[in-house]
Amino acid sequence: MKQHILVIGSGFAGLWGALGAARLLEQQGRTSEVDITLVSPAPVLHMRPRLHEHDPARMETPIAAHLAAAGVRHVAGLVERIHHRDRSVELRGADGSLSQLGYDRLLLTSGSRMHRPGVPGIGEHAFSIDQLDEALALERHLQALGAAPSSTARDTVVVVGGGFTGIEIAAELPARLRAALGAGAAPRVVLVERNVAVGPELGPGPRPVIEEALEQLGVEILLGAAVQAIDAGGVRLAGGARIEASTVIWTGGVRASGLTAQLPGERDAFGRLHVSDDLRLPQAHEVFAAGDVARAATDEEGNHAMMACQHAINMGRYAGHNVAADLLGLATVAYRQPFYVTCLDLGGWGAVYTEGWERTIKMIGGRAKALKTQINTEWIYPPAPERSLLLAEADWRNTVVA
Ligand SMILES: Cc1cc2nc3c(=O)[nH]c(=O)nc-3n(C[C@H](O)[C@H](O)[C@H](O)COP(=O)(O)OP(=O)(O)OC[C@H]3O[C@@H](n4cnc5c(N)ncnc54)[C@H](O)[C@@H]3O)c2cc1C
Repeated sequence: MKQHILVIGSGFAGLWGALGAARLLEQQGRTSEVDITLVSPAPVLHMRPRLHEHDPARMETPIAAHLAAAGVRHVAGLVERIHHRDRSVELRGADGSLSQLGYDRLLLTSGSRMHRPGVPGIGEHAFSIDQLDEALALERHLQALGAAPSSTARDTVVVVGGGFTGIEIAAELPARLRAALGAGAAPRVVLVERNVAVGPELGPGPRPVIEEALEQLGVEILLGAAVQAIDAGGVRLAGGARIEASTVIWTGGVRASGLTAQLPGERDAFGRLHVSDDLRLPQAHEVFAAGDVARAATDEEGNHAMMACQHAINMGRYAGHNVAADLLGLATVAYRQPFYVTCLDLGGWGAVYTEGWERTIKMIGGRAKALKTQINTEWIYPPAPERSLLLAEADWRNTVVA
């Protein structure tokens, strides 16, 4: 009887996981023995790393042809329950119906979502750019501001959270606001960060560059400030100060998909499942996890994958290979990705590119921006939907190691 690999999610890890599995099956001449199914709401890849840019409607890449070329079946729906003891999932289809899908091996790649803490007004009044629909809602709102009567609040955007995403959207906003509000407006962007330094998780390496860029772009940085409440007209800070703003963008931290809580094993503070070197769950050997749902070691030095697409793509390739290898009775391989880089978009100023876990600056300004543009418009996109191209790209040995 045919065996079945089920992949949950068509993000970076899911796409490359399904392709990685298809590659090994082909290489072993055993394609006819195993079916691969990928479940997600639609056969599309959302380019989440680009959701701070203007016109986010461009950030959806169709992948139906890619999956078909690799022999991967797509099923549209959302997995609601994983029954790992029975090796099956419950699936909610687009028409609202519930169905079951069995598997022999499961690859979980259901990604992450922004965490919204219990700040009053956050649900009703704060925008975000974590998911495509949220970025589209922000874009519609910014476009509509142009038709609203001029006021301080209309021209002011508060970005809450000075981490990676907060910095990228704050740096992009001056130009987006000028385009939306017209030449006569005086846009104001305020980046509010609870910590005493901007980009707390990025460390001191790139910080002076980030500060210089934001200053030149006219972005105000408010440090050691916590947003206590949000309403239609702005935010109230701890201590009572108020900023009048028609636009508030929340960029707090992300949490792994809730499906991780349905599987056995340890999870970290972000809800990510601890996985072994071959990206398998120690307490459920037929389940593998990759991307933002997995806490995986990248090297022997104690570093772990970030919730980032540079890790999700490569973890996907490894996990896809391993899930198929395990099913075919072949040895799995240990996920290793010792070379770590950061490339932070700084809007009209440029970008900053660092290498290593200490984030040593290697490039800034226009040169770094050219690299960022190449990453965001070429490297994170799948190649043309041709079987040989896709399977060659899905090889886990493509991971850049130095
Ligand atoms: C604004 C922003 C900027 C970023 N910038 C960068 C950057 O510069 N560099 C970088 O490396 N990373 C960046 N990231 C992070 C990067 O986008 C994520 O780490 C990456 O998308 C994770 O890939 P993934 O495949 O694990 O999950 P995702 O890309 O989130 O994909 C998850 C998939 O699972 C599906 N899914 C979810 N739940 C279910 C379910 N129950 N059933 C079926 N399917 C489900 C989703 O529909 C989706 O297809 C950024 C993220 C954001 C939001």
